[in-house]
Amino acid sequence: MSERYSFSDDEHERAFEIGRARVKRGGPDAPICAAQTRQGSLCKNIPIREGKGRCLRHAGPHAARGTESAN
Ligand SMILES: [Zn+2]
Repeated sequence: MSERYSFSDDEHERAFEIGRARVKRGGPDAPICAAQTRQGSLCKNIPIREGKGRCLRHAGPHAARGTESAN
């Protein structure tokens, strides 16, 4: 199955690395929670799928329960 994840050539791998550097943790295009913390900075945790853009800590009890109902 390793064939499925290999790169077709060096250029392909380079393009992947450039894209990855942009969106990896700490990168300029990385998805972050961005909730304001008590220190006044932004939360840099990764948003969870159910959190509407917020991380596990800031998504609130609704997302924590893991139910996507009414809203
Ligand atoms: Zn957060």
